[in-house]
Amino acid sequence: MPESHYARGVERLESFIAQFPEWRRLIPSDLNSYGGRFTAGWEFPGLCDDPAVHLRILVDAEFPFRSPRIAVFPPPAVLTRPNLEEQGILCLLVEGALTSTERIESVSMELLADARDLVNGWHSGASLERFEDEFQSYWNRWQRNTEKFISLCAIDGPSRWVCAFHERNFTIVADDEKTLKSWVSNYFTPNSKATLQSIPLIRVPRPLRPSEYPNSVSDLYALLRSDTDALSMLQNLVCVNRDKRKGLLLAFPGRRGHGFAGLMLPSAKKEIDYGFRKGHMSQHILLQRYGVYPVRGASVIRCDPSWVHGRDHNPDVTILGNKTVLLLGVGSLGSGVAELLAKMGIGKLVLVDPEALSTENTSRHTLGVRSMSRMKAAEQANILSKRFPHLQFESHCERWELCYKKDRSIFTSADLIISTIGSWSAESSLSALTYNSKEFPPVIFGWLEEQAAAAHAVAFFGEEGCLRCITDDMGRPRVPVTKWPGVGTQKMVPMCGGVFQPYGANELSYSQTLVADLVADILLGRVTSSAHQVWIGQKKLLERENGEWHPDWIVRHGSPENGGRMMIVPFKNDVSCPICGRPL
Ligand SMILES: [Zn+2]
Repeated sequence: MPESHYARGVERLESFIAQFPEWRRLIPSDLNSYGGRFTAGWEFPGLCDDPAVHLRILVDAEFPFRSPRIAVFPPPAVLTRPNLEEQGILCLLVEGALTSTERIESVSMELLADARDLVNGWHSGASLERFEDEFQSYWNRWQRNTEKFISLCAIDGPSRWVCAFHERNFTIVADDEKTLKSWVSNYFTPNSKATLQSIPLIRVPRPLRPSEYPNSVSDLYALLRSDTDALSMLQNLVCVNRDKRKGLLLAFPGRRGHGFAGLMLPSAKKEIDYGFRKGHMSQHILLQRYGVYPVRGASVIRCDPSWVHGRDHNPDVTILGNKTVLLLGVGSLGSGVAELLAKMGIGKLVLVDPEALSTENTSRHTLGVRSMSRMKAAEQANILSKRFPHLQFESHCERWELCYKKDRSIFTSADLIISTIGSWSAESSLSALTYNSKEFPPVIFGWLEEQAAAAHAVAFFGEEGCLRCITDDMGRPRVPVTKWPGVGTQKMVPMCGGVFQPYGANELSYSQTLVADLVADILLGRVTSSAHQVWIGQKKLLERENGEWHPDWIVRHGSPENGGRMMIVPFKNDVSCPICGRPL
């Protein structure tokens, strides 16, 4: 950081502060109490209603590129006031919006005004709701919060029993056993052995305030005393699992969204039976004796689809989470499409590809050199399942025709089939098979033109056309976007029939998005009939590689000019198509 900016900033700030009566510059021993975070600071009395409370303005070595912080002195204990961090530093609402390297005086003024309002609110009690609004920040600071939960549970719904798996470092919780086992198997290794425990998820009407955090099991009884169902779930948990550690999840609505808090209860010690033969103590006495046991808090990391795919604000999550997509061809185009579909939250992806990954694939494929020589479909499924353990992935490392012969239900049970195989032989037969068959879902074909200078995504529904309607008998588009006069664009490699198309990951990424976008439109019901969408690459790429816009495309759709855009091409089946054509 340029020192001159810091020095000038501090000088300006001190000139501004000089207008306040009785201000003083903090000395090194004052600053030391902040653990070396700040390099300069000033204190002023008399700004807040309570004359005993002084405000401090503190800057660090990044100032003025980082905003000053405001602290109160003397510092109250953490969790006794809202918006209060360690050493009395305030967490102000305006802080995030106030970073100006130039308006040092007005920014400082706004921060001080906000701090004064906050501190005055502490004394009037008006700011207690902030404890609820920012529950997570306070819960994570609670000194008894030493555990960690990972939750896959739906955020809504009533109090209920859910499934928990206690790992060494954390507890994973899900609404049902199948979801939990699938997540554990994806996240760790397939067939991980998971011993599950039923634990209560209890709804409480609002987030807890720090004064309500339960230190003991008795505190928890008291917290739930007005909810007899919840109390009975807790008592059941204690009695059934008396010799085990056990978890509990609290769920609550808040003004800023839903939240969870985890709690861990210890196993009962032998002494709890004192005076009784084992098994002869009444439940009432057990609960009473267990009441003195301490409770620990657990921070809850949400890994449920609603949170992962849109922080509870994506209305499409549920629909997409219930869909199965079959993707044929996990090459450079297909692997990118698979990744986008996983990010979208498609519930189940089935990947089919007969080939292994070569190192020269890796600059365009989502898999890297660490996956070389491994089967693309299996490896892609394996890696995506670790990245998105709440989704399901299945792989078949064989040609689609063999896969279909073995189990046609893989094709007929999917909600959508995508082919990014890029082979006319494989795709023409797929198109012929699925055309006009009520057995199959819609099929999308995605492919690239030379150099990835254009890309096509075409969806066929039932009897509304087939691939041959828009291609010639060799699978070439009847109306291509680009034309490549002179030498061919294919390059040779020293192997039997070895040719490849050079193109880069940048150009490729547009076509991956094109296909994934059409998938979303179909699964969400926005496209309900056969459709053809085209990515027209940038003209500079075309010119660099000596290509040009195809005259037939210009006649039909107009010149793409500089390109770089997506286009919806009106789709019409060809009545003279040798596969699907029929008289009108
Ligand atoms: Zn046709």
